[in-house]
Amino acid sequence: MSASPEDPRYSRQVLFRPIGDKGQRRLLDSTVALVGCGALGASLAEQLVRVGVGRLVLVDRDVVEESNLGRQALYTAQDAADGLPKVVALAGHLRAFNPDIDVDPRVSDLNASTVREHLSGADLVLDGTDNFDTRYLLNDWCVSENVPWIYGACVASRGLTAVIVPGETPCLRCLFPEPPAAGSAETCDTSGIIAPAATMIASLQVAEALKILTGNGDAVRRTLFSIELWPFRVFEMGGEDPQPRPDCPCCGDRTFAWLDGTERTRALTYCGRDAVQVVPTGAARGFDLDAVETRLSASFACRRNDYVLKVEVPGYVLTVFDDGRALVSGTGDADEARSLYDRYVGS
Ligand SMILES: [Zn+2]
Repeated sequence: MSASPEDPRYSRQVLFRPIGDKGQRRLLDSTVALVGCGALGASLAEQLVRVGVGRLVLVDRDVVEESNLGRQALYTAQDAADGLPKVVALAGHLRAFNPDIDVDPRVSDLNASTVREHLSGADLVLDGTDNFDTRYLLNDWCVSENVPWIYGACVASRGLTAVIVPGETPCLRCLFPEPPAAGSAETCDTSGIIAPAATMIASLQVAEALKILTGNGDAVRRTLFSIELWPFRVFEMGGEDPQPRPDCPCCGDRTFAWLDGTERTRALTYCGRDAVQVVPTGAARGFDLDAVETRLSASFACRRNDYVLKVEVPGYVLTVFDDGRALVSGTGDADEARSLYDRYVGS
């Protein structure tokens, strides 16, 4: 059966007046790009497919691990044992409860070279990421292309979210002109996280997504909203009617430093464990994972599925993707990770 507003699965939300039959049709005709499929992203994906977003593009660079299972919706112990990429595991689970939705998984790093490929055609972009580089890149692309996006972040027992409608509400750089200095922001790795902080922020993001996608833009929350669950407190920032800043470098002056790639970081310290992702310059083109496997399996224990090669080298584990990226586990030092990459995978 093709997707239809008459599908019984949507009957209760069609009864909700601001959505109705017309809103449901718009939802089924819409495309959402979701970047990051960790705790926030998996919860976002589940809700988006249940409400009936017609097409969902999932972008994430990581594989499912056991440490994800305590808070990241839908993933199973088998996904972790199989070392499946998150978007592949997630797409399988999402199709199982709504086969009519077009779920498009992309095992990829979102960076200045790939952002257009992954986000073009999206009516709305949702942030499930865990790092500022990617968020500033999303902000640059969405402002330059006039596509709304919804910022979401969570750590420990609190979270933060804002709806960015270019030209109408403050953009990320209106709110935070520069990203925090490296190592200065708390991460899930240093402060931990509890599941309700992620599901709460994801739900707030989906509520605003529903307003935008069903043609109820007037009802969108314009404030930067922050919630602390433990002890409980909520804050809304920006006053009655927050506006974009005329002197904002991004939405005011229209300079897009992250989109131009001038602000891109080559190696990123990864949230959630002692690991660094290495993104080699000019990756993807001509990278041959089979050749790397052949070379490394002669000396080291290798595990391979259709998407990644996992190699145990003394003291470290390298997870190499078919676009040339690698997650180097066992170090939090970017330079060391780069040198291990050069040593084992080769530049
Ligand atoms: Zn701005």
